[in-house]
Order: sequence, then C-alpha cells, then structure tokens
Amino acid sequence: MPKLYRPETLTEACSLLASLDNPMVYGGGTAIQILIKQGILFADNFVDLSRIPRLREITADHNGLSVGPMVTVRRMETDERVRATSPLAASAYHLVANPRVRNTASVGGNIAHGDYRLDPPTALLVLNATIDATSTRGTRRIPAREFFVDFQQTALTPDEMVTAVRIPTQPTGSGRFVKYSSLSENDWPCASAAVLVVDSPRREVRIGLGALAPVPRFVSFDATGLTDQEAVDAALTAVDPALDPIPDVRGSVAYKRRLGRIAVEDAVRSAWKDLADG
Ligand SMILES: Cc1cc2nc3c(=O)[nH]c(=O)nc-3n(C[C@H](O)[C@H](O)[C@H](O)COP(=O)(O)OP(=O)(O)OC[C@H]3O[C@@H](n4cnc5c(N)ncnc54)[C@H](O)[C@@H]3O)c2cc1C
Repeated sequence: MPKLYRPETLTEACSLLASLDNPMVYGGGTAIQILIKQGILFADNFVDLSRIPRLREITADHNGLSVGPMVTVRRMETDERVRATSPLAASAYHLVANPRVRNTASVGGNIAHGDYRLDPPTALLVLNATIDATSTRGTRRIPAREFFVDFQQTALTPDEMVTAVRIPTQPTGSGRFVKYSSLSENDWPCASAAVLVVDSPRREVRIGLGALAPVPRFVSFDATGLTDQEAVDAALTAVDPALDPIPDVRGSVAYKRRLGRIAVEDAVRSAWKDLADG
C-alpha cells in the first residue's frame, strides 16, 4: 500500500520528496486516481500539498499573476483578478473538462501532468508564463516554452515540485482560445489553439497548439501590415511544421491535422476581428 504524507510547510514537503523512495506529488488527484484505477501508476509514497496554505494563493501585481499550484482550475476561471489580468488564461481554464474535474484539479497538477492534450498550457505558452520548480536545492524558474520536453515528460526532476505558475499581464491586443472535441463537449480536445495577437508596436501573432503533437507546441510570426486573410494564411503556414498529431479514438492523423488548422483559423480570425472592432 502506498503511504500518504501531508506536510504543513514547503520545507517539509521538499525534504519528503528528497528522501522518500519513489515519491509522487499529490495535487487534486484527478489524474492520479484514474491512473491508479487503470493499474498503470505505481508510487510508494504520495506527498499531498493541500495543507500548505501559501500554495493555494493567487497574487496579482503590475507584472501579472503568481498562482500557487494548489489553486483549483475552477478558481482560475472565476477569479476576478485572473479574468482581468489574463482573460485568455481564464478562458482556457474555463474549458477544462467539466465542473466536477475543475473543482478538484489543481493548476500545478494540470501542468505537471504533462499530457499533450491539456488546454491551459496553450495559453501559458502564448502568454510567456514561467513555472517555479522547487526542491531542497532551491527554486528555479522554467519558461513554459521549455517545460514540455517530450510525450508526458516535463522539465521537472523527480525531487522538484511546481510551487508557482507566473502569468504575465496579457499584453495589449486580443486573445482567443478555441477547442474542438470529437466525442462530447466536455471531453478532452481533439484539437485546440490559443491565439494572442499582440499590438506593441509591431503586430505579432502567437499560437499555442494543444492535442496536435506529442507536446503542446508554440509558434509565432510578425503580422505587421497583414490583412485578416493574410494573417490566417500566414498562421496556417507557420503551424504546419508543428502539427504532428497522435491518432486515437478522437481522430486519425489526417482528421486532427484538418481540425487543428480549423481551430487555428477560427482563433486567428476572431482575435483579428476583435482588434478591428476596437
Ligand atoms: C474526466 C477528465 C477529463 C479531462 N479533460 C480535460 C480537458 O478537457 N482539458 C484539460 O486540460 N485537462 C483535462 N483533464 C485533465 C485534468 O486537467 C487533470 O487531471 C488535472 O489538471 C490534473 O490536476 P490534479 O491536481 O488533479 O493532478 P494530480 O492528479 O494530483 O497529479 C497529476 C500529475 O501531476 C503531478 N503533480 C501534481 N501537483 C504537482 C506539483 N505541484 N508539482 C509537481 N508535480 C505535481 C502528480 O505527481 C501527477 O504526476 C481531464 C481529466 C479528467 C479526469
């Protein structure tokens, strides 16, 4: 039987992760419980972070948001500071699974899970978020764009935990998160895209892709002076080399590539329209 540890300080949690055999951080448990039931997750010791108050905090200042790993996905969709500082992030968290999962799943667990289909990382990539990773050796800050290393593999070492996700204030411009599912509305995405059109002073289009490659992917290009159709065409050209979908019950490679292109087109077109409408 695995053991459950419930430290009350970050120092204690770090020591446990450094000293226990085969430990695993326990966030909201929504992914862990399913993997245990499927018989594909074996950990000897779980370190539950829910009793460490500072890991449940959201703080906001002129730079943006600092989000504790035990903040729930639900709070990210409803918190006024998140909605005001980063509406794009709030909209991506809003479309995770269903209210039951969102009420339990944590921000840290979501990103550390490292699944290529996750919704929030697409927004974190375009917003240039960073992730604080803490161990007994201290804290290092990892750019979201370097966090997803390979299929279900993140830049975290086994003794590190996510202690904050830092999301810069959304820059002037317009953002859109588009998610298309092929089984049911609340299901994992078949394809998703977060698009941020930044206007300062040149126009830049940033795109985060979800479920369309073994890891969430990021591309960007200069769109200064382009019309909306030229921007859509440039976006489709830019994402093409990044599309490397994994075929599964939600669609074949060809279907996912096609849906991915539609998600990108829809997100760019509607973000562009928002800017034109002022
Ligand atoms: C039915 C269902 C549908 C879903 N649909 C979607 C969807 O549409 N879109 C989407 O984005 N996601 C979806 N998910 C995934 C969901 O977002 C994740 O299960 C959830 O975010 C994981 O968070 P958690 O806190 O429950 O993590 P846990 O289950 O507690 O942990 C997951 C992993 O992260 C690690 N971990 C947890 N916290 C930390 C930390 N602070 N530091 C380091 N490692 C940590 C754990 O060790 C484990 O490896 C779905 C899940 C379910 C069950």
